[in-house]
Amino acid sequence: MNVLLTGGTGYIGSHAAVCLLQAGHNIAIIDNLSNSQELVAGRIENITQKKAPLIVGDICDTNLLIQTIQEHRIDAIMHFAGLKAVGESNAIPISYYINNVQGTLSILNAMDQTGVSTMVFSSSATVYGEPQYLPIDEHHPTSATNPYGRSKLHIEEILSDVAKSDKKWSFICLRYFNPVGAHHSMQLGEQPNGVPNNLMPYIAQVAHGIRAQLSIFGNDYLTTDGTGVRDYIHVMDLAEGHLCALDYAHQHPGWHAINLGTGTGHSVLEMVTAFASASGMEIPYQFEPRRSGDVASCYAKTDKANKLLQWSAKRSLESMCTSTWAWQTGEFSQK
Ligand code: NAD
Ligand code: UDP
Repeated sequence: MNVLLTGGTGYIGSHAAVCLLQAGHNIAIIDNLSNSQELVAGRIENITQKKAPLIVGDICDTNLLIQTIQEHRIDAIMHFAGLKAVGESNAIPISYYINNVQGTLSILNAMDQTGVSTMVFSSSATVYGEPQYLPIDEHHPTSATNPYGRSKLHIEEILSDVAKSDKKWSFICLRYFNPVGAHHSMQLGEQPNGVPNNLMPYIAQVAHGIRAQLSIFGNDYLTTDGTGVRDYIHVMDLAEGHLCALDYAHQHPGWHAINLGTGTGHSVLEMVTAFASASGMEIPYQFEPRRSGDVASCYAKTDKANKLLQWSAKRSLESMCTSTWAWQTGEFSQK
């Protein structure tokens, strides 16, 4: 298939691009480079020895999307592009709704005008809000506590409405849990701007001596060791899940929401221990009060992905940590 990746030079999109090319698909990428670099497309080509044409532009530009879809004879869209920082979304909600919701409407408009009807969408476990039971399955009620999460919920609802309007539409909303890790080539990985918000890149920077110590937000949760528990998933497992979702979407029109996680939760202290062991470095930390908006535990029930997509996460926590460490200390993450 010919697949258009929006946000394809970003963290998750770039890993999915490699999987798609290695599985024999053709791709084109559209990205406005607001949170990624042009040279990522070259790295995707280095790894795969295949073409990864990058169109630098915004998903809100419907005409550019139409032109790109026609030029590259696109059959399906993988929609990664969007803003993703929860805290920032409280400060600049309008930008979040424009980039995420209006951007998605622009893509749907372009799809409608060009006859493309399949999309795999990057949703998030954040749409479940405060967990009411664990593990979280796809029937769990949805809610949002910030504009980022609400933008994902709005998009899911819009896709659901559009799917009901005509049987041709095929949308899969992949609800990611906590993607971490990097490609084994060390050429692709997560490159946070400034101080990382997420745990894994923060730990990696502490291990590397870039930051003095990790602040662990809360040690009084009702978890095994009092620290927060999350479902960390290797980004390559996540990327492979997209390939399976594309196949499924192609054969099963309609609207589907599917969790992508491992089904296993790890506490912050377990992550610190695993990373220290993988890197051989000390990770100094101190306990601080809980971070506002955080929940104690969140991990996925993955039966739906196992059954419908014939997919399950395979890579270990150790592999998540060693690949992050290799990326963190390698030459490519510095550029
Ligand atoms: P990322 O920031 O690395 O990648 C997103 C890419 O989209 C970037 O390259 C950015 O330049 C581009 N982009 C943003 N707005 C754009 C626009 N208007 N037009 C064109 N390009 C635009 O983020 P990521 O971690 O790869 O996340 C990809 C998707 O997965 C996002 O939609 C995110 O909300 C979702 N998601 C991420 C996580 C996570 O922890 N990384 C978890 C759940 C869901
Ligand atoms: N966390 C932490 N220190 C940090 C960043 C995160 O203790 O510097 C904790 C956070 O409280 C949560 C877990 O690590 O329990 C995962 O946080 P992250 O932001 O990576 O993911 P999310 O909370 O969005 O699931």
